[in-house]
Amino acid sequence: MFDNFTPLLFIDSLIIMGYKFATKAIHAGQHADPTTGAVMTPIYQTSTYRQAAPGDHKGYEYSRGTNPTRKALEDCLAALENGRHGLAFSSGMAATEAVLKLLAPGDEVITGDDLYGGSYRMFTKVYERYGVKFHFVDTSDPLQIQEKITAQTRLIWIETPTNPTLKLADIAAIGQLAKAAGVLFAVDNTFASPYLQNPLDLGADIVMHSVTKYIGGHSDVVMGALVVNDKVLYDKLFFYYNACGGTPGPQDSFLVLRGIKTLHLRMQSHCENGRQVAKYLRTHPRIAKIYWPGFEDHPGHAVAKRQMRDFGGMVSIVLKDASLADTFAVASSFKVFTLAESLGGVESLINHPATMTHGSIPKEVRERVGVVDNLIRISVGIEDIDDLLADLEGALK
Ligand SMILES: *Cc1c(COP(=O)(O)O)cnc(C)c1O
Repeated sequence: MFDNFTPLLFIDSLIIMGYKFATKAIHAGQHADPTTGAVMTPIYQTSTYRQAAPGDHKGYEYSRGTNPTRKALEDCLAALENGRHGLAFSSGMAATEAVLKLLAPGDEVITGDDLYGGSYRMFTKVYERYGVKFHFVDTSDPLQIQEKITAQTRLIWIETPTNPTLKLADIAAIGQLAKAAGVLFAVDNTFASPYLQNPLDLGADIVMHSVTKYIGGHSDVVMGALVVNDKVLYDKLFFYYNACGGTPGPQDSFLVLRGIKTLHLRMQSHCENGRQVAKYLRTHPRIAKIYWPGFEDHPGHAVAKRQMRDFGGMVSIVLKDASLADTFAVASSFKVFTLAESLGGVESLINHPATMTHGSIPKEVRERVGVVDNLIRISVGIEDIDDLLADLEGALK
């Protein structure tokens, strides 16, 4: 039906003509293959492309920089975030690093105090060595960001909801601060997914995803992505993407294109199961504290309602009077939930942040933001809710 559009026009047409999320998830960036009519985007398993004469090619020269399967995915990701340009990377960290490469020694970054552990590690262990200064603040309070803005500030980098304590940051409010100060504003949108939240619409300049999580959705691919609107910014990021080479191959790009086709259905199910798990655990006698932004008394509830379509599938709990050994015992006793790092796949996962995903953050730093030894993070999958609740009940006995 859309065969006559080039990829870029195709994205624009989807935005301009107002196609909704599910339609974009299934069609954006994808065309019946011109040579065979194949409905699914082929896996262009090639590193290089024939040129008719030197420099005379069809837009593809070498697959580190451009590959048609990856290009289809990038156009699809851009459309899902209501952006113009997508870039896929070999991991979420590679995508994050491409943004940091925009910085120079002496530049300052304002970021959250409750970050993904790997982002914290890259900021402090890699980029501080290159002379970039990071300020870690509570991004649920825009004033704390405002206070750290100086003439050297180049980037504000936030996550919302945060990992693992699910704090909310007001994207529109921070976007206004960033714009007034002339500072780039990037949002790690991994926890929400593009189905629940679109930061570019709210004033962000860059959206980053660990595609490994909800977007891929099947725990079979590690990948990252950036989406931007500004062509100058895109060109700079594309330069680092091609120059430094952290780009994904065509097979993984295909798997993610396939995963995206059900993103909206999966997210609806993650949110519904997440809601039921949160409600069940809230009154459980062995739970001291629960984090889920859908509760009206969650401090970020109003912001979540305003900027998210639903509250997501992540729930974190603090066990009551539980030692590290007690917490390990609970975390190891599930039958349906799997004890593993990561999140956002169809299967439910249990994670112990203090030893697993956040193990690279010093104990005093993580405990200050609530990542205590008896905290367990749950990525609620899309299995039958009765089985999930029964498994939780059994493990908490
Ligand atoms: C997993 C994750 C990352 C890193 O992504 P990888 O694909 O593992 O490199 C970054 N941010 C958040 C919020 C994540 O959950």
